[in-house]
Amino acid sequence: MLKFGQALKIVLEDTKPMEWEWVVLSRVHRRVLAEDVTAQNNVPYTDNSAMDGYAIDTDDLKSVPRELKVVGVVACGKSVNKRLKLGEAMAIMTGAPIPEGCNSVVPVEDTERVASGIVRILRQIKPGKNVRYSGEDVKKGEVVLEKGTALGPGELGMLASMGRKRVRVFQKPVVAILVTGNEIIEPGERLRPGKVRDINTFSLRGLVEKFGGVPLPLGIAGDEKVKLLRKMRKGLNSDIMLISGGVSMGRFDFVREALTSLGYRERFWKVAMKPGMPISFGYIGRMPVFGLPGNPVSSMVSFLEFVRPLMMKLVDRAVDLPEISAFLKTPIVKKDNRRHFLRVKLDYRNHKYFASLTGPQGSGILKSMIECDGIAIIPENTKALKVGDRVTVQLIA
Ligand code: AMP
Ligand code: MG
Repeated sequence: MLKFGQALKIVLEDTKPMEWEWVVLSRVHRRVLAEDVTAQNNVPYTDNSAMDGYAIDTDDLKSVPRELKVVGVVACGKSVNKRLKLGEAMAIMTGAPIPEGCNSVVPVEDTERVASGIVRILRQIKPGKNVRYSGEDVKKGEVVLEKGTALGPGELGMLASMGRKRVRVFQKPVVAILVTGNEIIEPGERLRPGKVRDINTFSLRGLVEKFGGVPLPLGIAGDEKVKLLRKMRKGLNSDIMLISGGVSMGRFDFVREALTSLGYRERFWKVAMKPGMPISFGYIGRMPVFGLPGNPVSSMVSFLEFVRPLMMKLVDRAVDLPEISAFLKTPIVKKDNRRHFLRVKLDYRNHKYFASLTGPQGSGILKSMIECDGIAIIPENTKALKVGDRVTVQLIA
């Protein structure tokens, strides 16, 4: 059976990034940059004061206390064209530009007002003290944000500082979600024996949104080929299509057959992993299509391990989730040669991470996805792990 690593390679090999669009700055939170942003100006723009105090020249402070003539006030928002001479000082506010002839700012606390127009400097100060230099944060011409950066609060601030009113970001991928199964009913419907409420539409929607896509739920199709086809056709203009259920070996698993009649070119079916083994991946035209296992946990884990990396690649972002090494608090038994993806909760104590399983790990046990901080990856050739052994955990929380 196909190994996980080979399968992921196949999923990623033919992806091209999404088109980009202009979006106004106030609407780009959590979007992904589709351009390198180069600074058009220094930040700060001019040398300015980091304190409320007096702008002076340190050559004037050979000995202290020293009295200086206050020849003006530099307020914020004003520029100064006066040049200071020795023996003079200017009152200055935080953020106001440093006048010529000064090299430092003495904080108000280190001064005394002697008479009107005269300030006494009480303490010596080093040249350059309390001055924020032009370009000390950002230099004109520097690349401040790279293509593929997810825009969070800090990045939004930086874009504003660069004078950007609109930004080139990648379009959000539209991800169609179709769930299948004659037993599946809407969450609002009354349960009857044999019926199961639709979980996957909702957990997959959440995952699509979490990783920057726009979910397009296509509803519930039964297990009949005609119904499947009718619903699948509604998703043909999406960027990715997810179909949950109906890809196993059951008598009523017609999803792959239905897909084939829509021109599906399957690249693989079944991966040596747990959960998530009966997964199908291929293309209809240029649209990637995933046939995900119907078990709620399997569909979420296969989303995290295959669909999420593909979505990241569509917006030129790093593919990997951050990984840490943790000490196991629960022993693990594993008898097969598949790669296992276990849901764990993490504790951080004494500079170490400890991972405990989120209860029973069956692919139908949805509780295992609750309170889950990460996915512990148990490699193909690992058999059993004891309490205290190390595992690699992908952080998803
Ligand atoms: P399948 O992959 O179609 O064989 O489904 C595997 C298991 O997952 C079955 O027990 C289904 O009832 C269940 N299942 C499939 N789709 C969903 C869904 N959308 N919500 C909840 N359970 C589902
Ligand atoms: Mg089914």
